[in-house]
Amino acid sequence: MKKNNLKKKLDKGPVICAEGFLFEIERRGYMSSGEFVPMVSLDHPEVLENLHREFQHAGSDIVEAFTYNGHREKMRVIGKEELLEPLNRAALKIAKKVANDTSKGSNPNLMAGNISNSNIWKHNDKNAQKEVEGMFSEMIGWAVEEGADMLIGETFYYAEEAFRALEVMKKTGLPTVLTISPMGENKMRDGKSVVDTCKELEQRGADVVGLNCFRGPATMFPYLKEIRKAVKCHVGALPIPYRTNKDYPTFFNLPDRNDCECPSPHGRTFPTALDPHFCNRYEISKFSKDSYALGINYLGVCCGANPMLIREVAESVGLKVPASKYREKMENHFMYGKNKRIPKHMTDYGDKA
Ligand SMILES: [Zn+2]
Repeated sequence: MKKNNLKKKLDKGPVICAEGFLFEIERRGYMSSGEFVPMVSLDHPEVLENLHREFQHAGSDIVEAFTYNGHREKMRVIGKEELLEPLNRAALKIAKKVANDTSKGSNPNLMAGNISNSNIWKHNDKNAQKEVEGMFSEMIGWAVEEGADMLIGETFYYAEEAFRALEVMKKTGLPTVLTISPMGENKMRDGKSVVDTCKELEQRGADVVGLNCFRGPATMFPYLKEIRKAVKCHVGALPIPYRTNKDYPTFFNLPDRNDCECPSPHGRTFPTALDPHFCNRYEISKFSKDSYALGINYLGVCCGANPMLIREVAESVGLKVPASKYREKMENHFMYGKNKRIPKHMTDYGDKA
């Protein structure tokens, strides 16, 4: 058994994990929305490296290799299966490089290998399940060879697929994080409840269980409360920064606000027109702070995350990070600042601006 530095760190306090590379790389112009294949590690490695560095600067303790959707099935969909291994190895190498390159005097970050929902898992279909297991095994193998310190399995909406992922991850002896992503039916697609799935993941040996993606703070938090009570292991909380609600628990079917005059051509806000639903930083900060108060130490943000929000997560649990140097300083604003250099005719004008 290798040293479990993740667990040691979590026992001591909060551990921050930036995610959401998919949306952020797309926003930066290096990935097609909808298709969502992380070719960036091969096409523009410098862009991915820099994004990892920005998240690290904002307080992420974990550098997760961007191999989400970089699996055999997705590579087949786009007809580039031959690039599967190079893509994975490139993403892992970039993550390792950044993880080892922390500021002077601080410990290296943890580099995480990553597997996720395969999209071909099918309940009661042994052949499909065998194929998925093969996809997990090859990716975990490359992650171990490239020096992963821990493994993250995430965004599973079938309980059995999450269990299979954990089984493959556990064989390596590395620390494991397993987070699930129930869709709008508020249960796993194979019928298991969210809480029971987390309980079983703990029993099967996951170091961290919890939720990531699909749900914003409002529809993720109630489950976290239940999960925290139901398990003894560490719990992870990585919402999307969008305002989901009781009627629309996930971002997939969120309708636009009624003041939208230019709806998306494909007929839904997900994934390219979610902008009006974006959470502000204070909402993310409150979510993280409330989660931490429950005893949830593994914190982050999923699709929609950016470095500013990761800084909010870190600061909400009392951490000071390199990017804290640049947190808001409204006192120096030209119209709303309290700095005595700001002229009165400007501060007086603020409400008319
Ligand atoms: Zn996500």
